[in-house]
Amino acid sequence: MADEQANYPKRIGIIGAGISGLSAAWELSDSGVEVEVFEKEQMPGGLAGWFDVGDTTLEKFYHHIYNKDQPLIQLIEEVGLKDQLVFKSTETGCFYVNRIYRLSSPVDLLRYKPLSFPDRIRLGLLAVRARFIKDWRTLDNISAKEWIIKHSSESVYRVLWEPLFRSKFGRYASEISAAWLWSKFVQRGGSRGKTGAEELGYFKGGYGKLFKELQHQLERRNVKIHLNLPVNEIIMKDDQAIGLLSPQGTHRFDAVLAATQLPDFLSVTPALPVSFKQELETISFLGNTCLVLKLKHRLSDTYWVNITDVTCPFVGVIEQTNLLDESHYSGYHMAYISRYMDVGDPLYSKDIEALFETYLPYLQKIFPEFSREWIIDMYLWREPHAQAVVSVGYSQKIPPARTPVKNLYLTTMAQVFPEDRQMSNGVKLARAAARQMLQDIR
Ligand SMILES: Cc1cc2nc3c(=O)[nH]c(=O)nc-3n(C[C@H](O)[C@H](O)[C@H](O)COP(=O)(O)OP(=O)(O)OC[C@H]3O[C@@H](n4cnc5c(N)ncnc54)[C@H](O)[C@@H]3O)c2cc1C
Repeated sequence: MADEQANYPKRIGIIGAGISGLSAAWELSDSGVEVEVFEKEQMPGGLAGWFDVGDTTLEKFYHHIYNKDQPLIQLIEEVGLKDQLVFKSTETGCFYVNRIYRLSSPVDLLRYKPLSFPDRIRLGLLAVRARFIKDWRTLDNISAKEWIIKHSSESVYRVLWEPLFRSKFGRYASEISAAWLWSKFVQRGGSRGKTGAEELGYFKGGYGKLFKELQHQLERRNVKIHLNLPVNEIIMKDDQAIGLLSPQGTHRFDAVLAATQLPDFLSVTPALPVSFKQELETISFLGNTCLVLKLKHRLSDTYWVNITDVTCPFVGVIEQTNLLDESHYSGYHMAYISRYMDVGDPLYSKDIEALFETYLPYLQKIFPEFSREWIIDMYLWREPHAQAVVSVGYSQKIPPARTPVKNLYLTTMAQVFPEDRQMSNGVKLARAAARQMLQDIR
């Protein structure tokens, strides 16, 4: 009887068909285990989900990659779509008072007039200093604010960084760990081409195309993907996970992997040990809204414009068609207007028309030629858990992949630290969690 059980294929249930859930399924497929994925939405993709623009797809929230995003690049290669990846030199800018300053390369930094010349040098030295730091853990004990002021100056923080931190982390701006900033310097510094300009990557046809192909190939490898089927609860018995409860009933598994955002995991695990639950609940999140404009004309030739004007209701304008040109979008120009905020902020729940009217005067200030006649279409996307608040000491809070509940595993964006929450980090963590599960259940 014991032998029979040992020979019986083990079954793993995965919650979530975002990049993490599907990467874990990819890792587990062809390994002799039976895998089922449960996704509450009608399509896979999660935060990298898409909508159709003409005959192509575009992410609801901007998604570029870096040449250092090897785990994702490798996955794309394994799926056989590497020829769809394109890398391009892109321009980054900063809107300050009344104009956009280029901030794409170290030379642009030297020309950044809002800072005094000595401050520009201090800022450059800060970036160099960051690249020489090998152990980021020492930086996790200090806030980015303190670190910037200590190694450059008060005005470098106030003029450049404070508005950027405020725009991304709102009221938590001064609490963000210096380790997170360090990884931004290292990651973005490492994605520069020969000219010093940043090179960003994108997937031709949009990540929708990648997700559709992943789903198709996973199904051919006998992975069952249930779309439109939420998991209501992870079933636990005697302190171990034994299955999932969905509107279709009970699904028995030998192990369960939650590949969701942390608050979604908490909402399906009422029986989690109290102390573990309390630890996870100390991690806060910010929401994001992206208003996407489909336009007759280009706003500017900059891919990413950071807005340092604190009165502006949005924080960044990301013009997708400066990454992948307009010929891919039936000749139209696509731009994201992005804003991070607490989900309780009244702006978060504004409808699309009201939000656009709020944004319009600022759009006209930043892009003086822009007018509402340019607009062909508008789309509004909201996500309540867009960014974990990575405050000082965050490394102590990183949730483990193997939870205290036997056979229950977790792979989630809040585990990504000090790096930024790129999809590629999701792929890396999810595949590692899947390998860990295989090892454990065998
Ligand atoms: C504004 C914004 C900009 C970004 N920009 C970039 C970028 O430029 N480059 C980049 O690489 N990354 C970017 N990211 C990050 C990237 O989107 C995420 O890292 C990645 O998509 C996370 O994938 P995931 O699978 O871990 O989680 P998710 O994508 O959140 O997937 C989790 C899935 O679980 C499902 N789910 C939740 N609860 C249940 C349940 N009870 N039952 C069944 N299913 C459930 C959800 O519907 C979802 O599909 C950005 C994110 C945001 C928000």
